[in-house]
Amino acid sequence: MSEDLKVLVSYLDEYLAINKIKDYCPNGLQVEGRSTVKKILGGVTASQALIDEAVNRGVDAILVHHGFFWKGERSEITGIKRKRLKALLENDISLLSYHLPLDVHDEVGNNVQLAKQLQLTITGPLDHQAAKSVGLVGELNRSMSASEFKDFVGSALNRECMHIGDDNTAIKKIAWCTGAAQGMIEQAAHVGVDAFLSGEISEPTVHSALETGVHYFSAGHHATERYGVQALGNKLATEFNVQFQFLDINNPV
Ligand SMILES: [Zn+2]
Repeated sequence: MSEDLKVLVSYLDEYLAINKIKDYCPNGLQVEGRSTVKKILGGVTASQALIDEAVNRGVDAILVHHGFFWKGERSEITGIKRKRLKALLENDISLLSYHLPLDVHDEVGNNVQLAKQLQLTITGPLDHQAAKSVGLVGELNRSMSASEFKDFVGSALNRECMHIGDDNTAIKKIAWCTGAAQGMIEQAAHVGVDAFLSGEISEPTVHSALETGVHYFSAGHHATERYGVQALGNKLATEFNVQFQFLDINNPV
């Protein structure tokens, strides 16, 4: 029971429509390992800890949202980059990485999957100009006070959520974008939502929230981006003769 690496990669590349999305990194097969794949380990980021566990478990491929070779990074293979690549190549493990294509996908995308976790009903895109909006707009399944929603997000994602705004205001209409999309809060203010949720928060986000009157929820970059890879890996395991496991390596940011 195994599958050809090339077959899996071309399926994923097509399913996630990587050719239609401009990104800051290559999407698809970033590091080539053995030609057949039986076991796949998923994670949010291709860190050394994930690679070490992949070696321990004897998997054939790693599937992540944050891979290697980001635009603007140094191209020398030194330091931690050497260590990570050495471990993959020595153990013949492939690295499959899907960044923006996995944020925006209609079924397994991080934003659609986060909506499921938070019981949000999607009503439209955040960016009407974009061919494919990364952020989404929707509604909570019931109106909640801001502090109630903060606690709800914290327990749904198992990670404490930070809220900027008045605790007692009722929240119903919300926009969200996983990861480090805090800069989109002003765009969210334009579409007229009560709140905007993303992963990270920066110093200016606090002022933007208070001055636009849009509540801001910082739910964690890692925490908001756990769900796309899991949905994609589980899909692979139902479509092909492969086994998928997800490893959640705690990251407080
Ligand atoms: Zn991210």
